[in-house]
Amino acid sequence: MKVYLGLISAAVLTLAACGGEAPAPAAPAAPASEVAPVVSEVAASVEAPAASEASSAPAAAAPAAGECSVTISSNDAMQYDTKEITVKSSCGQFTVNLKHAGTQPVAAMGHNVVVAKAADKNGIVADGATAGAAAGYLKAGDERVIAATKLIGGGEETSVTFDTAKLTKDGSYEFFCTFPGHLAMMTGKVNVVD
Ligand code: ZN
Repeated sequence: MKVYLGLISAAVLTLAACGGEAPAPAAPAAPASEVAPVVSEVAASVEAPAASEASSAPAAAAPAAGECSVTISSNDAMQYDTKEITVKSSCGQFTVNLKHAGTQPVAAMGHNVVVAKAADKNGIVADGATAGAAAGYLKAGDERVIAATKLIGGGEETSVTFDTAKLTKDGSYEFFCTFPGHLAMMTGKVNVVD
């Protein structure tokens, strides 16, 4: 038995010895923890430039936010206050705001702004008239329409944001109102620039 105990003791001592070595691997853990901050610092330094690039890139390559939108005012005299708008392709997203400075209700003097190829204008307006007032004088799901605001009346305003990739520089685009009878007065050119 004493022999076995001795063996057991030896085994225990061996285990203890092994156990004693256990902290050894922990020692490298200390440097590892020293590495951790370095890694997080690297991660931080990697993220920081990325974030600043993300925020500075649009400023450098793209125009200021104010250049990525336009406000068109309309009135009771069936007029827009501009005959052309300029859309910067570099904006990615462009917003058209429409104001109706008049007082007449939408049923009598409704206005919208529809952006489409010049060649599609008459067809869109004709189909819009058929669609009727309840449809905002636009055919549902009209794929010729690049962007369209809702139809508004006096005192109201609305806006629409669209992807500038839908416009190409060599294309011919116009904006117009699809309210019956308004096309002749309410239309303008959409210039596309970088
Ligand atoms: Zn109109």
